Amino acid sequence: MTVTRVTLEENEIPTHWYNVVADMPNPPSPPLGPDGKPVGPEQMLAIFPGNLLEQEMSGERWIPIPDAVRDAYRIWRPTPLIRATRLEAALGTPAKIFYKYEGVSPSGSHKPNTAIPQAYYNKQAGINRLTTETGAGQWGSSIAFAGQMFGVEVRIYMVKISYGQKPYRRSMMQTWGAEVFASPSDMTQTGRAILAKDPNSLGSLGIAISEAVEEAAGRKDTNYSLGSVLNHVLLHQTVIGLEAKKQFEKIGEYPDMIFAPCGGGSNFAGIAFPFFADKAAGKNVRLIAVEPTSCPTLTKGVYAYDFGDASGFTPLMQMYTLGHDFMPPGIHAGGLRYHCDSPLVSQLYHEKLIEAVAVPQLATFEAGVKFARAEGIIPAPESCHAVRACIDEALRCKESGEPKTLLFNLSGHGHFDMASYDRYFAGELEDFEYPQEAIAASLAHLPKVG
Ligand SMILES: *Cc1c(COP(=O)(O)O)cnc(C)c1O
Repeated sequence: MTVTRVTLEENEIPTHWYNVVADMPNPPSPPLGPDGKPVGPEQMLAIFPGNLLEQEMSGERWIPIPDAVRDAYRIWRPTPLIRATRLEAALGTPAKIFYKYEGVSPSGSHKPNTAIPQAYYNKQAGINRLTTETGAGQWGSSIAFAGQMFGVEVRIYMVKISYGQKPYRRSMMQTWGAEVFASPSDMTQTGRAILAKDPNSLGSLGIAISEAVEEAAGRKDTNYSLGSVLNHVLLHQTVIGLEAKKQFEKIGEYPDMIFAPCGGGSNFAGIAFPFFADKAAGKNVRLIAVEPTSCPTLTKGVYAYDFGDASGFTPLMQMYTLGHDFMPPGIHAGGLRYHCDSPLVSQLYHEKLIEAVAVPQLATFEAGVKFARAEGIIPAPESCHAVRACIDEALRCKESGEPKTLLFNLSGHGHFDMASYDRYFAGELEDFEYPQEAIAASLAHLPKVG
């Protein structure tokens, strides 16, 4: 009988995170201040704890996972590696398709892998309050849950349009004890200034980030936390790939290609980086980030220094970007509507060590439905991107007869996204053209460096 579900014991949860910096051919380019000079940790200490900043700057290959964090991981980890035999049969492909299922976490995605250590390290540093932003609510609910685990209060600025559209994500955050405000709010100067100009503003991720950062910078007892992009976030996510490697070892398999949806880059890095270590040592494995054609950061963006937020509050980071004021079309994969990508993922892509592909919205839902009908699990709209790219490869294998081993990250389930599936079934979803003009306009505003 073919093994379809590969599980690990609790004591096989990784003891260390893997830091890809140790295996990169070139050191990461430093974040820069408005003056074009590298930003030192001192300036970041206003909003991040020292222990996380140390990880942000670290070049050590292995970083120990604290016992209290491994203990909290046990609530849902190790996550299963599953062979999608029913999907293989439905496609008639000779390829073996595996997926790592991160939707088994309490909030339903991979995001608690970093929310848990972020809450823990802030608590260790004597911080009892965190602010953050959330768009669709995946990150907000993850940090609300993590804050509750370690006795850290959490305040979340939720983009106003999502606050109205995703009431149950908000209920989750409140169930885990977090305060949730629709952004723009009247709690911050940023919010008040925007409301004064436009009382009906529906908000944006950039505005919500600015509100959360403003509050954290202005209060000694409060730090800010971010759910993607930064090096320490990617580091924490490597538990996904480290577990997957052990699981493949158990069944004597190894993936030829790995796919993951890519918004800020954290779940892609989480599953791919531990395999990058093998690639750096000469092994043949292809790592593919999958993004929407409507927000094609890696495939159509430029590699440049840019801000991480819309208002220009953050340090400048060298990364693939569509321009910090690019406003992507309103696709349903909210987690993939970010104007830039993690600096580490960007640098590896720039050096041609990883690959990227863009897929259109309708095809992602078609793939998600096909997957749900074969395998049972309903993927989050973000995850549907990886499902699409993996199915496309499986179909190429069908043509060529190659029995490749494929792995994708099922980064979350879609239980809070059924309204998007409804719209797909009603034929109301559309493919957005590549927003060439909007991107060109935004790229014209890239900050000048040096
Ligand atoms: C947030 C999210 C993503 C995208 O974020 P990354 O940082 O690129 O991982 C992908 N899938 C799900 C389910 C998410 O919640």
